[in-house]
Amino acid sequence: MLKKETMIRSIDAMHPNKLEIDLAADLIRQGGTVVFPTETVYGIGASIHSTEGIRKIFEAKGRPSDNPLIVHVASLEMMHPLVKGPLSPRVISLIESFWPGPLTLILEKSKNVPDPVTANLDTVAVRMPRHPVARALIEAAGVPIAAPSANLSGKSSATRANHVIDDLNGRVDAILCSDGCEIGLESTVLDLSGDQAVLLRPGIITKEEIENVIGNIVSPTSHEVSDSVPRSPGMKYTHYAPKAPMLMAVGDLASMTEAIHAQLMSYDRSVRIGILCTDETIGGYTDENLVAISLGSRSDLRGMSSRLFSTLRSFDESNVDLILAESFPEVGIGEALMNRLRKACGNRILNQESTMDERPGIVSMSSR
Ligand code: AMP
Ligand code: MG
Repeated sequence: MLKKETMIRSIDAMHPNKLEIDLAADLIRQGGTVVFPTETVYGIGASIHSTEGIRKIFEAKGRPSDNPLIVHVASLEMMHPLVKGPLSPRVISLIESFWPGPLTLILEKSKNVPDPVTANLDTVAVRMPRHPVARALIEAAGVPIAAPSANLSGKSSATRANHVIDDLNGRVDAILCSDGCEIGLESTVLDLSGDQAVLLRPGIITKEEIENVIGNIVSPTSHEVSDSVPRSPGMKYTHYAPKAPMLMAVGDLASMTEAIHAQLMSYDRSVRIGILCTDETIGGYTDENLVAISLGSRSDLRGMSSRLFSTLRSFDESNVDLILAESFPEVGIGEALMNRLRKACGNRILNQESTMDERPGIVSMSSR
């Protein structure tokens, strides 16, 4: 695509400057693309009513056109025209419990949502973010804003301004730089278009929290995920891949660290190895060819989740040849954290027989 002039503005997260917001809202209404912070990750937004704006989102990200976009609204008045019929009691109670916030609902769509936004599906994904900049921008634009994560397709979602600029400067009309992607993982996606609620993407709002409000929900089976028309088309694409190949160690803390140390022994010291670890284990990784980064304390799953994407990107910046990662219990928020980690390492497990042969071919491996 042709490189374009991108307007880059710093904006206060808590008290966004009205003039800057109005300028960005004008761009949205005129069919432009504006990157803005949300409480989950940065989004790249365009008006759902602008064919040109929506086309520019897919082009800027290199996103396949069969991967639908989440539509962001600032109010229920803005949401109602997007969905078919009145909201069910189940939807209303979820909205009352979790909006504004990091929960995306998939509902049957009305004719007001153009097909390119939803990749021709008959459902629409809707979310009301709570970040003040996102809220102010959508309100000022006065139109629902379609906004996928603001990263090049295949890379980690961006949670910091410099990461957005790295990926999208010259590819979008404006970038609003701000703090405040405090959650750091994308929203929980819940499909409510059928009788049975289905959790399509785990997030900080957990399965248990949702079940407390609407009762039993299910996660899609691998069979559904591999269908040619999956329930959530985005699931079939590679995500979050750091530049270097990544392997994950599983098991209890002792077996994980043992597996990582055994693996380290098999590489020559000229190989730069990134270690994704925790406060509890970082003291064990001191060799000078190692770039060890702690996600935080194992007792703080929320904090670790919020740092995952920025940590994956710092491994890119450190030019490591390989990344070895610890893993986490898949309960509560751990489910979302592990979902992203598994995708980042393409599900390659370090200490499991079936995948041991898939060790990436790093040059200068020694037999010591
Ligand atoms: P992103 O925009 O990068 O946060 O990704 C949004 C995710 O929501 C992708 O995995 C999409 O496939 C999924 N999604 C968006 N709209 C729908 C929809 N109507 N039905 C199912 N999944 C959807
Ligand atoms: Mg994304």
